[in-house]
Amino acid sequence: KRFQDLGLAPELLQGLTMMNFFKPSKVQERALPLLLQNPPRNLIGQSQSGTGKTAAFTLTMLSRVDFAVDATQAICMAPTRELARQILDVVVTMGKFTPVTTFCAVPEMGADGKMHAPSAPTKAQIVVGTPGTVANMVKYKKIDVSQVQVFVLDEADNMLDAGALNDQCLEVKNRLPKENGKTKAQIVLFSATFPDEVRMYADKIAPEANKIEL
Ligand code: AMP
Repeated sequence: KRFQDLGLAPELLQGLTMMNFFKPSKVQERALPLLLQNPPRNLIGQSQSGTGKTAAFTLTMLSRVDFAVDATQAICMAPTRELARQILDVVVTMGKFTPVTTFCAVPEMGADGKMHAPSAPTKAQIVVGTPGTVANMVKYKKIDVSQVQVFVLDEADNMLDAGALNDQCLEVKNRLPKENGKTKAQIVLFSATFPDEVRMYADKIAPEANKIEL
């Protein structure tokens, strides 16, 4: 399987070439056809870091954004600020040939010397951040979720360890627009491990998902 056969936009293929990604990794080969299917379906994926899952969900976010719409259309949550910044870097690099707008939702140092969620609202098309900050910005309407098409949770097991999966992640998910009682956005969850508790929250956050294990 080649990236060219997945129906990706030429601008994204250009980005992949620039990054020297010539052929899909195993997780990309398995996940991308499921992630890019229409109508969109949720995905729960078991995958370690280092397997290429970041590119899989980044291509999904970039593929589902309508660049003509000036509103947040994809949100990705990661357990640490460092990981959130790394993911944002991949989004920016892979989206280099698109007009995508991005925002990193991590705590900032305030005038009081304490860390706070950014106070300015954002309409960036793709927002990547840590659970507490993203949830805070959504709650206080700094991020409008009414046009979100994709919600990604990376390293769900680590987010559960931090108490975020069962709290802020679920809270943001519950604020996403619904249709006939179902969340409209596509929900994508990756985790390296699936102990019972992670599996339970994964199924709650991403119901009726396609599932892949590596
Ligand atoms: P990840 O598991 O997403 O952290 O990715 C692990 C590493 O593999 C990163 O350094 C990526 O840049 C690299 N990578 C991911 N997909 C590919 C690919 N299809 N071809 C070459 N390198 C890749």
